[in-house]
Amino acid sequence: MQTSKAAVFVEVEKPLEIREFPVPPVEAGGAIVRMEMAAICGSDVHFWHLASTPRPAIFGHENVGVLAALGREVTHDVLGTPLKEGDRVLFKRTNCGRCAGCNQSGNCRVNPPYGLRPSFDAPYLKGGFAQYVYLDTNPWLLRVPDDLSSERALLSITGNHTLLRGIEKIGGVALGDTVVVQGSGPIGLAAVVQSKIAGAGQVILVGAPASRLALGCEVGADVTVDLAGYPTPQARIDRVRELTGGQGADFVIEGSGGATAVTEGLGMVRNGGKYLVVGQIGITAPQPINTGVFVEKSLRVEGVAGGDSRSIIRSLKAMRSVVKYPVEKLITHRFPLEGIMEGFHRHETMEAMIAVVRPNG
Ligand SMILES: [Zn+2]
Ligand SMILES: [Zn+2]
Repeated sequence: MQTSKAAVFVEVEKPLEIREFPVPPVEAGGAIVRMEMAAICGSDVHFWHLASTPRPAIFGHENVGVLAALGREVTHDVLGTPLKEGDRVLFKRTNCGRCAGCNQSGNCRVNPPYGLRPSFDAPYLKGGFAQYVYLDTNPWLLRVPDDLSSERALLSITGNHTLLRGIEKIGGVALGDTVVVQGSGPIGLAAVVQSKIAGAGQVILVGAPASRLALGCEVGADVTVDLAGYPTPQARIDRVRELTGGQGADFVIEGSGGATAVTEGLGMVRNGGKYLVVGQIGITAPQPINTGVFVEKSLRVEGVAGGDSRSIIRSLKAMRSVVKYPVEKLITHRFPLEGIMEGFHRHETMEAMIAVVRPNG
């Protein structure tokens, strides 16, 4: 563990550069993780395109790895489970506990997530697209049970934690309710999984292409509405109404990130229904919305950004117990660190549902 290769973001839309960094000795209150798998998330690709992204930086914020070195003060994970070197873990930033973000939304504003912070100074290794990640002092660690695959552990934090949190925030899925999910990418399919295990009677998945919808059915979708067959928002709204006896859905989840998706989703939800907005992250162009619909339909609307400690813990537990679907199939592509740009490409062409990097082979 003398050095660690890392894929470094050096310039907008330029291939990430594979560089080698020294791995400093572990601090008494710190830990070093040897990466097993990091998911290539839509936001990694988004930041790669964005001129305002600080650089150099090592991306990769959805990570699972093994404790390679553990400071003597770090003895237990966040649930009090004893830790030792060699244990598999999920990790996330340590909340400062003092900022408004920590105290209002649970998303710390002082410590950025691993994989979303610039690396100007040593120890540099603060993202998952690297062989090792050098964790902050007092690290947030969650031990992965030995009988849970690394794939499932990773999937618990590729959207499932966010959806679990959002569904809880909006008051849950009433048992037997019909849920419409807009979007058939990783977020949309996490919404399918989480609404089914939360008690949905029927999940209608709206998206494209057909291959993604088919994958959606494998993880719990009952009916699909293919954008190819229903190319306009009105056609899709009509189809959802048809499928729900003319009423509209009890609960609609936006997981597409499409600029006009919210207007469309508001047309799909029934009177007195719920609308959870998840995919609209990074949307900067304002969209016209008939705000009267909130009142006329007496809607409950919520947004959610990422998971928090509790939702990660519960999502991991759910992956081990109640998620019976073959969710591992959602990881469609695996790449070595050197192949990361191929992974970005497969993500952008939507060939990959979830592509992962395996920095240590
Ligand atoms: Zn992400
Ligand atoms: Zn904070």
